[in-house]
Amino acid sequence: MPTIFARIIRGELPSDMVYQDELVTAFRDINPIAPVHILIVPNKHIPTVNDLTEEDEQVMGRMLLVAKKLAAAEGIAESGYRLMVNCNRDGGQEVFHVHMHLMGGRPLGPMLLRR
Ligand code: 5GP
Repeated sequence: MPTIFARIIRGELPSDMVYQDELVTAFRDINPIAPVHILIVPNKHIPTVNDLTEEDEQVMGRMLLVAKKLAAAEGIAESGYRLMVNCNRDGGQEVFHVHMHLMGGRPLGPMLLRR
């Protein structure tokens, strides 16, 4: 079964896409938690970070470089931003297609709430 992100990448589902190349796609999160909240995803389906192999080094590096470029394009490079990749249940992963959250545009506070 293709994930919802696979369908967005292929253009089968609408999204506010901000970037696409042969390795990665980036689109705005449907439920943003910051003024800038973009998801950067590999075009290839990789369910979780646990599934990465050495073959995926290039695509994961591309995701970081695209995050850097999009942060500059969105005007948040200097003010700052957070990059986050969730994995499995305790990481809070909801969509099982690896994705990097690029968030910024306001102070994001501490990395995690202390319990
Ligand atoms: P996760 O919790 O897996 O790290 O993050 C999944 C993210 O995907 C959430 O922030 C959620 O708002 C976003 N999301 C889920 N479904 C869709 C969708 O159909 N379109 C877009 N643009 N974002 C989605």
